[in-house]
Amino acid sequence: MELLLESNSAVIDWAKIILNCCYLFGSVTFILGLKMLSHPDTARKGNLVAATGMAIAIFATIFLYPGHDGNGLGNYPWIFAGLLIGTVVGTLAAQKVQMTAMPEMVSLFNGMGGACAMLISVIEYHHNASPSVGMLAVIVLGMIIGTVSFAGSIVAWGKLNGKIKDKSIPGAQYINFILWTALITLSVMVIGGYISDKMLFYAILLIAALYGVLFVMPIGGADMPVVISLLNSFTGVAAAFGGFLYDNPVMLTGGILVGSAGTILTMLMCKAMNRSLKNVLVGSFGAAKTGRAAGSGEQSSYKEISLNDTATIMAYASKVCIIPGYGLAVAQAQHACHELEKILGDKGVEVTYGIHPVAGRMPGHMNVLLAEADVPYEKLLEMEDANDQMASTNVVLILGANDVVNPAAKDDPSSPIFGMPILEVEKADHVIVNKRSMKPGYAGIENELFFRPKTSMLFGDAKKVLQDLVSELKQM
Ligand code: NDP
Repeated sequence: MELLLESNSAVIDWAKIILNCCYLFGSVTFILGLKMLSHPDTARKGNLVAATGMAIAIFATIFLYPGHDGNGLGNYPWIFAGLLIGTVVGTLAAQKVQMTAMPEMVSLFNGMGGACAMLISVIEYHHNASPSVGMLAVIVLGMIIGTVSFAGSIVAWGKLNGKIKDKSIPGAQYINFILWTALITLSVMVIGGYISDKMLFYAILLIAALYGVLFVMPIGGADMPVVISLLNSFTGVAAAFGGFLYDNPVMLTGGILVGSAGTILTMLMCKAMNRSLKNVLVGSFGAAKTGRAAGSGEQSSYKEISLNDTATIMAYASKVCIIPGYGLAVAQAQHACHELEKILGDKGVEVTYGIHPVAGRMPGHMNVLLAEADVPYEKLLEMEDANDQMASTNVVLILGANDVVNPAAKDDPSSPIFGMPILEVEKADHVIVNKRSMKPGYAGIENELFFRPKTSMLFGDAKKVLQDLVSELKQM
């Protein structure tokens, strides 16, 4: 009997060692993957590396984790059914999604991460008959952060696909204050064990969900990038709490990495928008300000330019800067854009791209889009570098960008984007704007740039316009 026990514990120890090696391997692949994601050349591979580590960590947990009673996880049919459904839904969604709907899908998936963290907390709350204060704190905090991330991400998803409009809520700051006070008071009561009524726990969940909705709902204008990155970091932190709960190092590492990467991104987005995080959290900007809404007030006149004139002006330029925006992604015109850049290069024109950090609908959107068309990374200039070179640039070609070149950000204190650094295209000799109409961009405000003396409008779908420009240039 003793021998049997000894050999059993030896087996369990080996299983533990292998499990921990898998976790270590998973953690290292997350770090390597994240590092590789920072460059377009290695990003795809980085994603694969991290996904492989995650798969190993998941299967190691399923088959090697001893469980509470040493008999493994159990519940295998449920686990494999969940894995199967998740894999099928995830694969189909990722395959079918249009490139333009990618940001909203990322937001939705981020929300699912938050929901998982919330559910983990709910389950563990019921599992633990007499949890310690520390354990309760981890459960409650993980649940609050996960719920806020879930509810907020769903609203962000609706906003990105246009189903939910920005709504400024009267007295939002007071409501938020009341919700925070209620959250803190109830959490202290539950964590401190003063009241063990399960309804209180669910009241916290409901308040957190309400806060998540109210916190994202009024964020308007062009400030969504900050919120999206912040929600991203919330999900990471909530997952890290799950790692604490299960004493699972790989979940902890993954959560901390997502949480810290999301926090860094939030700080970068705040810098890009010239907003403080406090500003974002109390929702005192964006939808609250009005600015000059598109279609309001008197309109000055704008001038148009023909394809032929555009081709000529670009062919004889020595330096051209292309400013890509959301419209380039909508038109799927990245390949045509690269074609134009190559043809201009063959004619001896120096071509660069000016990348605004919040151009498009997700952080790094333009980098991903242009990398897909094999645009050399060295040609992509960050906003500050592009602005430094603007005075020596002959032609700026704006392709489906609007808010990121709107001078109201510098000149109009009543504008919802006031204070956001922009690409200072007017320092160049000529500005050519390609879009389909005079409609506004994401922030919903008019753009004075289109009416300024240096600017000419080149109307049309970006892909068609670029293809036609390429044919014109080929004939020159
Ligand atoms: P904008 O949304 O300001 O403007 C895009 C422009 O593209 C529109 O004015 C539209 O004009 C034009 N367009 C659309 N389709 C086409 C097409 N097929 N061909 C040519 N033009 C087209 O985009 P920007 O990139 O300048 O700015 C991004 C905005 O999105 C910012 O306000 C940012 O804050 C916000 N945002 C960014 C996020 C991020 O993480 N990057 C996340 C959420 C929001 P028209 O209809 O006339 O063609």
